[in-house]
Amino acid sequence: MSFKSLGLIPELLKAVSKQGYTTPSPIQEKTIPIILEGKDVLASAQTGTGKTAGFTLPLLQILNATRKQRHRPIRALILTPTRELAAQVHENVRDYSQFLDIKSTVIFGGVNAKPQIRTIRGGIDVLVATPGRLLDLENQGALSLGRVEILVLDEADRMLDMGFLRDIKRVISMMPKQRQNLLFSATFSKDIKKLAEGILNRPVLIEAEPENTTAEKVNQKTYRVDAGDKVEVTIKLIADGNWKQVLIFTRTKHRANKLSEKLVKAGISSAAIHGNKSQGARTKALAGFKGNKIRVLVATDIAARGLDIPLLPHVINFELPNIPEDYVHRIGRTGRAGASGEAISLVDVNEKEYLRDIEKLLGEKLSSEIIAGFEPTAKLDGSKPKQGGGGSRNKKKKPRPQSNSNQNSGGQNKSRNKNRNRRR
Ligand code: AMP
Repeated sequence: MSFKSLGLIPELLKAVSKQGYTTPSPIQEKTIPIILEGKDVLASAQTGTGKTAGFTLPLLQILNATRKQRHRPIRALILTPTRELAAQVHENVRDYSQFLDIKSTVIFGGVNAKPQIRTIRGGIDVLVATPGRLLDLENQGALSLGRVEILVLDEADRMLDMGFLRDIKRVISMMPKQRQNLLFSATFSKDIKKLAEGILNRPVLIEAEPENTTAEKVNQKTYRVDAGDKVEVTIKLIADGNWKQVLIFTRTKHRANKLSEKLVKAGISSAAIHGNKSQGARTKALAGFKGNKIRVLVATDIAARGLDIPLLPHVINFELPNIPEDYVHRIGRTGRAGASGEAISLVDVNEKEYLRDIEKLLGEKLSSEIIAGFEPTAKLDGSKPKQGGGGSRNKKKKPRPQSNSNQNSGGQNKSRNKNRNRRR
């Protein structure tokens, strides 16, 4: 199957080949012809499947085929849950439309609205937006959705998780009833189905791959450790493996900051990315990570969702997520576009239940290992969990005091670990 056989016009084929894509991904094979026919689509696709090109390419072709008006009203709206995803989707829109007379822009909160308003006033065909800023600007009269022909809801499940349902409904009430709707979601929960019923008109159901196939591509491993050893183990893994690009997940913003600080102290360049960081800081951290200037990006689930980090070799779950689906999203950051990846989870005794839920979702047991010198004092099986057991989902765990973890700094991890191993 080629992009040409999907019916794309030469300008888009040229843009696609400039990106280095040779063959369409499975989701692209399915969505492109159907969207080109003008049908509504309900697609299950995770980040990493090529879904963005799957909806952007046909959307651009449709807009290009019909007559444009000189003042360029907004004709296509792509809604995304996070600022990062909005920025990435817009980058894709720009890349794919570079040989067409189509203008696009992106708007999201956390940055000055004035330049965004100016750009929109200048006329744009495709708007990528997060719901909050979009409604803000609409309320101010800075934009109108009265001429939207195509609506895309990207990562709709995450938008619902983040409480955007009311915002989405308001946005929809501002658009013409006659329009094409494309809804992309990693999961098809009851809520998503309900949302889809209210928005989509006789949609074609598309499933990119069965749920969790990303997980199958990734080499997954768990290490049983004590909570208080996790920082040292993380440093050891990165230093011993000489890993150059590692994405680490924590459950909380605070832990993301703390871990990042400790890695920096150990001589491993790192930045944290989460909801409390300013947009500028998040963009800078991501750019530094993508450009190999920062070895480690420590992220919370929401901040990492939808990040486009191609060919990421290593993911570490410093803490397991309490929502099992988030595990699949996390490890979906590695092994992308056919490349193999490794996802390591550091599991302490209090995370027993999280692990059980994840394994239930995956339908398999994850391999479990112990690192010499960091043997856990409490075993997951057979011992009494601390703090009322692994079921303490909403309680913040207090990690054991770090043993010597900050005494050495500046790239001496290996010798520190050797010392540690001797001690034990
Ligand atoms: P997405 O799922 O849209 O976030 O895309 C994941 C990654 O795959 C991005 O880095 C895209 O640039 C890349 N990609 C999208 N389509 C293709 C394709 N047909 N061939 C190779 N890479 C692709």
